[in-house]
Amino acid sequence: MLRTGFYLSSDCGILYPELSGPANLNSELKLIEPMSVSVLKNSYRVQLAELAGQQVGRLLFNEPLAAHTSWQIGGPADLLVEPTSVAHVAAVVGFVRRHGIPLLVIGQGTNLLFDDAGMRGVVLRLGDNLSGSEISGNRILAEAGAWVPGLARRAMQAGLAGLEHTIGIPGTLGGLVLMNGGSQRRGIGDNVRRVWVVDREGRERTLTREDCHFSYRHSALQGTGAVVVKAELELERREPKQIRRAMLEDLRERRRKFPRKQPNCGSVFLSTSAMHASVGPPGKIIEEAGLKGTRIGQAEVSPQHANFILNLGGATSQDVLSLIAHIRRVVFERIGFDLCCEVRYVNTVGELMPAHLASG
Ligand SMILES: Cc1cc2nc3c(=O)[nH]c(=O)nc-3n(C[C@H](O)[C@H](O)[C@H](O)COP(=O)(O)OP(=O)(O)OC[C@H]3O[C@@H](n4cnc5c(N)ncnc54)[C@H](O)[C@@H]3O)c2cc1C
Repeated sequence: MLRTGFYLSSDCGILYPELSGPANLNSELKLIEPMSVSVLKNSYRVQLAELAGQQVGRLLFNEPLAAHTSWQIGGPADLLVEPTSVAHVAAVVGFVRRHGIPLLVIGQGTNLLFDDAGMRGVVLRLGDNLSGSEISGNRILAEAGAWVPGLARRAMQAGLAGLEHTIGIPGTLGGLVLMNGGSQRRGIGDNVRRVWVVDREGRERTLTREDCHFSYRHSALQGTGAVVVKAELELERREPKQIRRAMLEDLRERRRKFPRKQPNCGSVFLSTSAMHASVGPPGKIIEEAGLKGTRIGQAEVSPQHANFILNLGGATSQDVLSLIAHIRRVVFERIGFDLCCEVRYVNTVGELMPAHLASG
């Protein structure tokens, strides 16, 4: 049975607030109550049929989630909704709240592992339909579905620097803000000025950067059920050529280091500065443990970069979870370090957790 509530990972010393949320924002955005596993077998298709008569965007019933994640893994969701306005988002959030139906928000699914059994409830996907952006002075106001590399390129063309480190991150702005994603030891939180959300009651709220409490690959929005719908980024003026050079350099490095042919989810394990200082980055540790090329089912530790797990074709969520468990066990035995996942596993009732907590 999966655990709910706070996840205190004694091995990693990190408090994961996925299902409960941090105190500072809880009073504002409220906690998600742990879901009973008894709903696991239920399907919400009957209640959800009611949504079909409402204007909330594109509705896809029984939609395979494998089609919406970069790992290409995951069974069907009862319903996947693609809203085209903030009002749609608020209407869906309000509807599921009233009916007690599980809800999960996704962008490009580049940091998610769905279960082979899919998800009972609603997946709200913010993508192309909510991806507008406008530039004013040294600020960009963009909708959450904006594709991050496209946004970074737009900033570069306008002579705005600060998003160079995001040029190779294939997710949406909403996912990036929630994860405080970034590279080169940076996070998008450095540039966020304001974030607009629909809270779990379906109300629109505006948050400042301070409200979001960004830290390494973390924001206070995690675990609150808030849907990011828009964000304002503050950037610096610089020569487009100079920005472009930095972006090309980043992309060149990624092409050199990262596997690109088979479906993957980017870096599976978290890399922190403390870890770098003591044992090195996860890819190096996993490689040193002799695990490059290790396979379970159709999931493989990339022979090119050991912090990537590849779907060789038809990998199941269980293949990936078993491989994660195996890597952690071997690394701990040989190097004495507990690895924690950056990638999130989604269980069948839409609860999110760092994948190693589901891998046993
Ligand atoms: C090849 C590759 C390279 C990558 N490189 C990097 C990297 O350099 N740095 C890095 O940080 N990440 C990297 N990633 C991981 C991933 O791209 C980022 O975490 C990205 O920010 C996730 O965005 P997404 O839209 O795909 O979010 P998803 O994977 O769809 O969701 C991720 C989380 O965000 C939540 N979420 C998504 N949208 C919203 C929203 N609008 N409102 C509220 N919550 C939301 C989801 O519920 C989930 O908890 C990489 C992935 C791949 C496949």
